[in-house]
Amino acid sequence: MKKLMVIGCGGVASVAIHKVCRNDEVFSDLMIASRTVSKCDALKEKLQGTTKVRIETAKVDAGNVEELTALIRSYGPDAVLNVALPYQDLTIMDACLAAGVDYIDTANFEPEDTEDPEWRKIYEKRCEEKGFSAYFDYSWQWAYEERFKEAGLTALLGTGFDPGVTSVFAAYAKKHYFDRIDTIDILDCNGGDHGYAFATNFNPEINLREVSAPGSYWEDGRWIEVPAMSIKREYDFEQVGRKDMYLLHHEEIEALGRNMPEVQRIRFFMTFGQSYLDHMRCLEDVGMLSTAPVEFNGQQIVPIQFLKALLPDPASLGPRTVGKTNIACIFTGMKDGERKAVKIYNVCDHQECYKEVGSQAISYTTGVPAMIGAMLVVTGQWKKPGVFTTDEFDPDPYMEALNKWGLPWIVDTDPVLVD
Ligand code: NDP
Repeated sequence: MKKLMVIGCGGVASVAIHKVCRNDEVFSDLMIASRTVSKCDALKEKLQGTTKVRIETAKVDAGNVEELTALIRSYGPDAVLNVALPYQDLTIMDACLAAGVDYIDTANFEPEDTEDPEWRKIYEKRCEEKGFSAYFDYSWQWAYEERFKEAGLTALLGTGFDPGVTSVFAAYAKKHYFDRIDTIDILDCNGGDHGYAFATNFNPEINLREVSAPGSYWEDGRWIEVPAMSIKREYDFEQVGRKDMYLLHHEEIEALGRNMPEVQRIRFFMTFGQSYLDHMRCLEDVGMLSTAPVEFNGQQIVPIQFLKALLPDPASLGPRTVGKTNIACIFTGMKDGERKAVKIYNVCDHQECYKEVGSQAISYTTGVPAMIGAMLVVTGQWKKPGVFTTDEFDPDPYMEALNKWGLPWIVDTDPVLVD
């Protein structure tokens, strides 16, 4: 029986914790540790009568390596699941190394302060060398490879839906359907409606940074960057309908580009409604998406953090969101000398998720794979020394677990392709 420490107690963490509590054949003990301990206590209160898993809570600043290392040592978990923010990835990895436990997360590192001159120097060099300008990239966490290897520890990066499940779909397609994959299109469609004029489905700061950045895709071994929202396609999603989708930079492209070098082109598209785009453009034009602190009434505020305080908490969207998500990967390539195309996708219903765990489908589709990743690491099925993304292990146990834990998938061997 395994002991897990979950760091963070927001929308994604809540779903992962619900699923850990259901999975009492694997997990016997759980610590929920986060910045605001009252949220951890409230979740413990809600769940403890419903599960055999023993739940403890703690307050921790995950940005403080010493404090976090001491907490991990005193609790002694088999692994730490980081579902706080990407800002804390490196400090949590440092603490896991110091305490000698495995590490799992759902999003790759980016800095909270993008004006930090030390970080900026490295960032600007990377933009020039690699050709994409997103704030996040894998280099910071891949740099831990030797340290995790030497310590005999596993770091599993990006086990949400995208990244996470999408890369498992790629590994599964490669193992079962293709001799060679030529192209991958990842399509992330949220057909949900929460009734607000504007809200984000997960942490607004991280979400708005991601979607307001230039888009980019991987072609013939290099990045091609294009202005934000400049490549648009329409696609008819099963159980959702026709939606406009836009090409974005996304982190799994970087890992798949490295780990599957034979793939000629990898793109990522996300659906957005016109109202969302209009709000975002306006907020950007007036400077509300800026991460640089400004002076206001004698104090420093970061515009995007102030905006976060005004927007609905993503965790509060659950009861009011109706409709479905459909996240798909379309692969083209060769099998037994013939060209073929395969689509693997999941459809998830916001209200069904809310009934089951009290969250909308975006948190659900991230929190379930986070628990699955943690389960595969602690049970040894996905355990090897080093730093890995989800495409680097046997996909079969993960795919089986998706069916079992609430995210069943469908294979379409005659899919409509994207131009
Ligand atoms: P939330 O903002 O809802 O939750 C973040 C949690 O982390 C909060 O409980 C917050 O505490 C806590 N936290 C923040 N800073 C610290 C700190 N220094 N020390 C301890 N705890 C801290 O975010 P989400 O649940 O929406 O997202 C969680 C993660 O999931 C993010 O990294 C996000 O990028 C990722 N994600 C990944 C997806 C994927 O498919 N791969 C999709 C969606 C999200 P407090 O309660 O005090 O605010």
